[in-house]
Amino acid sequence: IAKNPNETEFHQAVQEVAASLMPFINENPKYLNNKVLERMVEPERVIIFRVPWIDDKGEVQVNRGFRIEMSSVIGPYKGGLRFHPTVNLGILKFLAFEQVFKNSLTTLPMGGGKGGSDFDPKGKSDNEVMRFCQSFMTELQRHIGPNTDVPAGDIGVGGREIGYLFGQYKRIKNEFTGVLTGKGIEYSGSLIRPEATGYGTVYFAQEMLKLKNDSLEGKVVVISGSGNVAQFATEKVLDMGGKVVTLSDSSGFIYDKDGIDREKLEYVMQLKNIRRGRIKEYADKYGAEYHEGKTPWGIACDVALPCATQNELNEDDAKTLVKNGCFVVAEGANMPSTAEAIDVFLEAKILYAPGKAANAGGVAVSGLEMTQNSMRLPWTREEVDERLQQIMTSIHDTCVKYGREDENYIDYQKGANIGGFIKVAEAMIAQGVV
Ligand code: NDP
Repeated sequence: IAKNPNETEFHQAVQEVAASLMPFINENPKYLNNKVLERMVEPERVIIFRVPWIDDKGEVQVNRGFRIEMSSVIGPYKGGLRFHPTVNLGILKFLAFEQVFKNSLTTLPMGGGKGGSDFDPKGKSDNEVMRFCQSFMTELQRHIGPNTDVPAGDIGVGGREIGYLFGQYKRIKNEFTGVLTGKGIEYSGSLIRPEATGYGTVYFAQEMLKLKNDSLEGKVVVISGSGNVAQFATEKVLDMGGKVVTLSDSSGFIYDKDGIDREKLEYVMQLKNIRRGRIKEYADKYGAEYHEGKTPWGIACDVALPCATQNELNEDDAKTLVKNGCFVVAEGANMPSTAEAIDVFLEAKILYAPGKAANAGGVAVSGLEMTQNSMRLPWTREEVDERLQQIMTSIHDTCVKYGREDENYIDYQKGANIGGFIKVAEAMIAQGVV
């Protein structure tokens, strides 16, 4: 903590992992003797840079850009870029640290990284976003490459931003390579990549339920967020016969007791992705309830899928969810539950899946996009979706293998941490002290 002052979210992520890993590490002295965890918490490289750009009024603006290259021991650095005013070193280090375990769990050869900027895309014109992305990539391009570091999207970075970033990279390097994932389908992106994180989270929830001879059919589902992950989680819950009753954004949440059907979801996609409006407009259009400044965890449900941002679900929220009968929590977002909230879920012994397992579908399909780019051969929608389902099942199996406590209970948090750790730790030992 003294070494990394003010990096609150990074401390939180490391403490969560260390607490569940330490008994396992103590049983395996080679990890202790090689100081594997001490090395893992120190990024291989951190890049911080100035991003100057000119707004529509002709005024100069200055933002800060980051890339955390956390671990390249099992593959090139891989992880998203986040554009949000709250972005700082501690948040990106927490995300990069989590990414190392997540990428390992996917079984694909990807190291861990994360990056972004404190730039706020909200209220900016397309031209402003383009000029910002071009300036950001003008510096980032010297640090990344298809075999070195392959960024993708995250909060505030979707198809539009990836397009501008890719265009600038190609222009500077004079190379058409798979240096970014989440690319448009017209220029070597992968089918199912936009859907992958949300779909994967729901596939994971379904796997957990399957183990209890249950399914999402007929379940009431509360979802937070209304961005990329939340939208496609909603779509997949509908495919599986569940009923989604909430969505949210940073201003508040909507509660639609009749359920968000496909037509309403299409409206949300237009609202959020094209018009870039607020979720409140949904309530006005469909006569649903709107709760300003609130999160949706007070709505009674069977399943909760937090898909917005870190620490959006606290101890009281967790208690309310459990009290109201919620028995499945699968994290679409990264670290959405506070440490205290996780304790509530573990104590109640409900089915709780941490983000590094449940939301790994996004980076998994990014890995599949890299494979298709290397082969210069695109797969069909069905092929990618099938591989995504196989990967989510395999991550679930890994969690069960390392997280089984007794006949009836799996500690998915422990399972994901140990399962993700082993491959990275073994590779670190094999490669020597580097
Ligand atoms: P988007 O930018 O598409 O959507 C983010 C959503 O979360 C928006 O509804 C946004 O509301 C809301 N949100 C953002 N910040 C806050 C906040 N501080 N408080 C309340 N709500 C907030 O991002 P994604 O859907 O891609 O990402 C959502 C989460 O999923 C993040 O934790 C991300 O790290 C994680 N994730 C994403 C992956 C991906 O493939 N995209 C992969 C794995 C994890 P508003 O519109 O008001 O900002």
